[in-house]
Amino acid sequence: MKRIVILGGGTGGTLTANRLRRCLDEQAAEIVVVDRDADHVYQPGLLFVPFGLTDMKRITRPRPRQFRSGICFRQAGIDWVDTEADRVHLDDGTALGYDVLVVATGARLLPEETEGLTGPGWLTSVFTFYTPEGAVALHRALDRFTAGRLVVNVVDMPIKCPVAPLEFCFLADYYFRQRGIRDRVELTYVTPLDGAFTKPACNRELSGLLTDKGIELVTEFNTGTVEAGAAASRAPGGRLISYDDRAVPFDLAVVIPLHGGAGYVERSPGLGDELGFIPVDPGTLQSKTRPNVFALGDATDVPASKAGSVAHFEGDVLAGNVRRFLAGQQLLAGFDGHTNCFIETGFGKALLIDFNYDTEPLAGHYPARLGLPLLRQSRLNHLGKLAFQQFYWHSLLPGRDVPGISSRMPTRGKTRPLDQAATTPSGSR
Ligand SMILES: Cc1cc2nc3c(=O)[nH]c(=O)nc-3n(C[C@H](O)[C@H](O)[C@H](O)COP(=O)(O)OP(=O)(O)OC[C@H]3O[C@@H](n4cnc5c(N)ncnc54)[C@H](O)[C@@H]3O)c2cc1C
Repeated sequence: MKRIVILGGGTGGTLTANRLRRCLDEQAAEIVVVDRDADHVYQPGLLFVPFGLTDMKRITRPRPRQFRSGICFRQAGIDWVDTEADRVHLDDGTALGYDVLVVATGARLLPEETEGLTGPGWLTSVFTFYTPEGAVALHRALDRFTAGRLVVNVVDMPIKCPVAPLEFCFLADYYFRQRGIRDRVELTYVTPLDGAFTKPACNRELSGLLTDKGIELVTEFNTGTVEAGAAASRAPGGRLISYDDRAVPFDLAVVIPLHGGAGYVERSPGLGDELGFIPVDPGTLQSKTRPNVFALGDATDVPASKAGSVAHFEGDVLAGNVRRFLAGQQLLAGFDGHTNCFIETGFGKALLIDFNYDTEPLAGHYPARLGLPLLRQSRLNHLGKLAFQQFYWHSLLPGRDVPGISSRMPTRGKTRPLDQAATTPSGSR
């Protein structure tokens, strides 16, 4: 009897546990999932909470209920991993030995790493929608907001779902227009990148949308300090100050803090890199340091976006490789960096992008000629984004195969020759 321990029961950990349980006999392998809390939040739903378009109750389900029978769920914090002894030490003082370890503990927000961010303005004039508490508090603040400058700021990359801050800007434009006060609100998007987004085709499309909607774009801004509340002497709300001494004043700031890997990774010799992410082979998802350790989702260092769709496509490859590893077979380098994202643009429309390590987002349709339109706003994509939540609970998390959707990026339906669109993977994170 082998034991597979999966650290983290979020998107990647849950779907991997369910996929493995389907293909491994219960007499052959025990599967244990460790997570510190009992609620599973559908994180893409956090984008809609500040605008009152959903609430936490509608996007939260009991974590243990997302696992197939035959999976053991341990609710505990992870203290550290001893990769020499193949043991995970939990914060309740117990330890779990493993034959195979799967790291799926995602990314951690590090707001305290930016000077002043969690100071006196935090949750009064400075918010984030990347946590349940932040999204709920921001909903109340937006309700009260009747005029002034709203600034959306990404402190640094990588972040989870790199398009979510742009979606927030588009939805804010829509929200203030619906309330009839758009002419009294200035919207500004402040990013460390040299454009709205990393990928040229997307950058063009998304920069155009920012301009069309009257949203100011401030680029190459590396936020060093957030001055707000009592510390903000020169602006009623506060100011973002960059390392090169530029200032962006705001009345309300929506900040996406710096991200790092889970805290226990730093306490686990040989497991992670200096940011707490797990170095893995980008094709097989096997750890570069320990052969019986695998990782997926936001926890890895692969040059793909930190997105649920990536965890989904990786899960398929990773489960196959864990099975091969246990059977002593050669691993398959089956993950090609496949990512897709719906980008909500307001007014009941959304864009869809689909790409991988080597191929830029292309126009056309997904997953085939008769599918959803790519790189183009449409009502169909908006409906796809809304329907995705049901797909998440009933298909993605249970680890079901979906006909026509594969972990490899499809080329059918794309309208430009792929060899004209090849790029290096480094820009895609
Ligand atoms: C606002 C927002 C919008 C998003 N929108 C989209 C979208 O539209 N499309 C998309 O594809 N993706 C989107 N994402 C990203 C997506 O939610 C994540 O990429 C995905 O959830 C990653 O899965 P994961 O399993 O790697 O991590 P997670 O799902 O975050 O799971 C990590 C788990 O590890 C547990 N954990 C961490 N540390 C410890 C510890 N020390 N001890 C015990 N347990 C621990 C946590 O409790 C958590 O349950 C969005 C994210 C946000 C925040």
